[in-house]
Amino acid sequence: MTSLLIDDRVALDAGCLSQALAVEEQRGITSILLTHSHIDHTNSLPFFIDNVYGDGDCRIDIYSSPATIYAVRRHLFNNTFWPDFARLPNHLLPALRFRELLDEVAVEIAGIRFTPIPTHHLVPTHGFLIEKGPAAVLWSSDTGPTKRLWEIANTLPNLAAVFLETSFHNDLQSVADRAQHLTPRTMFAELRKLERRVPVILHHLKPPCIDRIRLEVEGMGHPDVSFVEQGRTYEF
Ligand SMILES: [Zn+2]
Ligand SMILES: [Zn+2]
Repeated sequence: MTSLLIDDRVALDAGCLSQALAVEEQRGITSILLTHSHIDHTNSLPFFIDNVYGDGDCRIDIYSSPATIYAVRRHLFNNTFWPDFARLPNHLLPALRFRELLDEVAVEIAGIRFTPIPTHHLVPTHGFLIEKGPAAVLWSSDTGPTKRLWEIANTLPNLAAVFLETSFHNDLQSVADRAQHLTPRTMFAELRKLERRVPVILHHLKPPCIDRIRLEVEGMGHPDVSFVEQGRTYEF
């Protein structure tokens, strides 16, 4: 379940905010960007809000595409599954504020510039170009074979790293294709679209596939490819 904490203030996806972070760390978060609506990227939102709400001064901004905001409001904060915190304590000063992102229109949050880039997945999904100071990092989010992410990557002389999903091992290629995810085979095909050498860090490995994905990737002996480490702080 995917969550990144960036500079202690901004979360990218909310798959495990309430499980992975201490309550004090959660209280430091002011904004959350969601790549898409799938529950492995959104499920901790209700418990996160529960953990940070209560002192009357909770204002969390959630940035995402109109489609994702619609899905989260309709299916998560719908008063049936969880209270609608976009109208609590009242609609004028709610605990949650939803802010719409448009394709390739950057927003600046806490001094970090985020540019949403459409990827190819079952629901509308954004990867993000994340820029601060001299460094730029690309986060793919969930995607099958895609195009725009690489076109943008190839324009960035300061690209420091690419985080790329690899969900299934090669024998599950047909499942990966239908679910619009990557296997090692299609992940390496994607890397041929990248015209510069930077560290490529793989994430979003489905638990039953982890061992075989590692074998298949390491068997290719690609010097730039490694696996994300849960809990690690990355600096660029
Ligand atoms: Zn997904
Ligand atoms: Zn996912």
